[in-house]
Amino acid sequence: MFWQNKNQNENGLSLADYLADGLLVFDSKNKIVLVNPQAEAFFEVEEEKILGKSILELGRFPNFRELVSLLGGGIREVFRKEIQIRENLILEVTTVSVMRNHTRVKTLVILHDVSREKLTQKAKTEFVTLAAHQLRTPTSAVKWSLEMLLGGDLGELNSEQRKVLEKAHKSNDRAIKLINDLLNVAEIEEGRYLSALSLSGIEGLITSVVKDYKEKMERKKINFEFIKTKDHLPQIMLDEEKMKIAVRNIFDNAVRYTPTGGKISIFIIKREKEIEVQIKDTGLGIPEDQQDKVFTKFFRGSNITKIDTEGTGLGLYIAKNIIEAHDGIIWFESKEGKGTTFYFTLPVRKRFGGYLTEKFY
Ligand code: ADP
Repeated sequence: MFWQNKNQNENGLSLADYLADGLLVFDSKNKIVLVNPQAEAFFEVEEEKILGKSILELGRFPNFRELVSLLGGGIREVFRKEIQIRENLILEVTTVSVMRNHTRVKTLVILHDVSREKLTQKAKTEFVTLAAHQLRTPTSAVKWSLEMLLGGDLGELNSEQRKVLEKAHKSNDRAIKLINDLLNVAEIEEGRYLSALSLSGIEGLITSVVKDYKEKMERKKINFEFIKTKDHLPQIMLDEEKMKIAVRNIFDNAVRYTPTGGKISIFIIKREKEIEVQIKDTGLGIPEDQQDKVFTKFFRGSNITKIDTEGTGLGLYIAKNIIEAHDGIIWFESKEGKGTTFYFTLPVRKRFGGYLTEKFY
């Protein structure tokens, strides 16, 4: 065989035998010509049983089904795509084409075992979920007790007592927000995120989020405008609850990081195949040298941390994942001291496969 003969050593072993990764080699007709020992172990099959078979014929072996459905009969090119072979075996698949005179003479399929990383990640995520759930009950109890005290149920409070309790209430609310954010992040990282998809209107959804901020904006004397397109806005498939979290996370930042007397504008624009939403503020902005980190977990701008201790740095990471799970795109423009505009688009179409894939990790 071309591959083996060229690479065999004096013991009759080829280089491929020593690889820690699995390797399958297909010829120009997409028939299998080499299976290294690691690939035999992954698929629990002996090389002799499958040599000479086409990729589609391999699909008859249950262990090969995921691989065949990923690569198709023509062996499409893939880079680090994950497949699950059995419960504790997850492989990352990459194909490499060997070209001669512009034609593909061989295709190498490299199989890298990522099960351990995935299982560790899963265990960590499960731990976060469990811990966050456990923390929910005591923080809710504290909130309830503080609200009773603040409401005067146990007697009048003097101003000093009220101040202390209000501080405690605020800190407790912050802990509740962090717990909820952690639960959202854990859901994202487990790859299960969107659930109840239904045809919804984005305009109504935004209006309901903004309503919750009416008082806060009045207190900060923020000049708010909501400019909607005159075009008819079609309904789109949304997980309303999740999309509200995304919009709230973006809008909350605009309100929080815009000083008293500033301005916030929301625009809804209808494009040919998508709806674009812009949330623009005249606030503190994001320092230029930190802008590449904006959508990463726990990022908080250095100009913000000086004046605000309430944020978790998880809001935009969550928002980005929600929008991308809806096949949308999110981006922003910002100038420190001048303001920030967040943009996101959502595709207009009746149905979509709205589940997170590995591209979100
Ligand atoms: P946080 O809980 O800190 O608001 P986010 O993930 O929502 O976390 O945002 C991350 C960081 O991005 C913020 O801490 C802030 O530095 C910056 N940021 C986001 N939106 C704005 C905005 N509208 N104006 C200024 N800074 C912003």
